[in-house]
Amino acid sequence: MKYEVIDFHCDALSKMQFNDHINFQKDSRLDVDLEKLKQGNVSLQVFAIYLSERLGSPRFSHVLDQIQIYQEKVVKSGIRPLCWQEEMDQQTKGQPWGLLSLEGADGLEANLQYLRISFEQGIRFLGITWNYANWAADGVLEPRNGGFTKKGLELVQACHHLGIILDVSHLSVKGFWELVTQAKQADRPFIASHSNAYRICPHPRNLHDEQIQAIISLGGRIGITFFPNFVKTNGPVQLSDLLRHIEHICSLGGEQHLMFGSDFDGIDAYISGLEDAASYPYLVSELLKHYPEALVKRWLFGNAESFLRIHLPKRKKTL
Ligand SMILES: [Zn+2]
Repeated sequence: MKYEVIDFHCDALSKMQFNDHINFQKDSRLDVDLEKLKQGNVSLQVFAIYLSERLGSPRFSHVLDQIQIYQEKVVKSGIRPLCWQEEMDQQTKGQPWGLLSLEGADGLEANLQYLRISFEQGIRFLGITWNYANWAADGVLEPRNGGFTKKGLELVQACHHLGIILDVSHLSVKGFWELVTQAKQADRPFIASHSNAYRICPHPRNLHDEQIQAIISLGGRIGITFFPNFVKTNGPVQLSDLLRHIEHICSLGGEQHLMFGSDFDGIDAYISGLEDAASYPYLVSELLKHYPEALVKRWLFGNAESFLRIHLPKRKKTL
């Protein structure tokens, strides 16, 4: 039996920005291409726009470049772009959906008009920072652990107004708690698209128990991620190590808030057996050894889908 999958994070666009010759239909240089998505039965893939430090200082033109790559390579290959809540009822006839996310507000150059243009171009998720500080907030590896700037708080409010969902995966701990306050006021839950549990693997990119509980109580989602450094501190990393994170988040009440965010194409090391988007059937078979089918389906698909059904913007929204 095939199990549908939603994957909340991959960096294929950034990879393609550095190599014009990569063919999204099928290319051994990509962890996520159309053929592998179909093999993995991935019915929705979130594509992050990540501006590599190799591009120099982040510009909005770099964001537009990756949107163009998404349109010309990914969408033209047969991925259906998902932008609006109403579209979720359409039959996809075996064509996976794609969703755009911006990983780090750096490329918006502190200009909220650029945020509006990004929304018009289909961006529906925003990770406020990557690992370091930017104009909006501090990232999780910024030693001073600052929170949001004044302009960053304006960005949060503009996102809530437009219908862009915020993503805390690289955000500083202080920024996280400031966002909780904003999210409560606006009644807008947020996600951690690709982060694991700090209690199981103490890496700064992972979430502390209190953070996991806050995401759960707000009705947000947590995408379990496959990068070995975020799964286990030492030694070879097996799929069973990933299950410990699932187990822990469930023990905190997260059964209905778990999903997956592989980070494929953004990583250079892998859990054995989980090397690309075609590997999902292996994950499915391992999960089914330990958990009831209804739960496994939730984690692979249902939890992410129910979130999108509520929180993707509606088409009729006036800009
Ligand atoms: Zn990331």
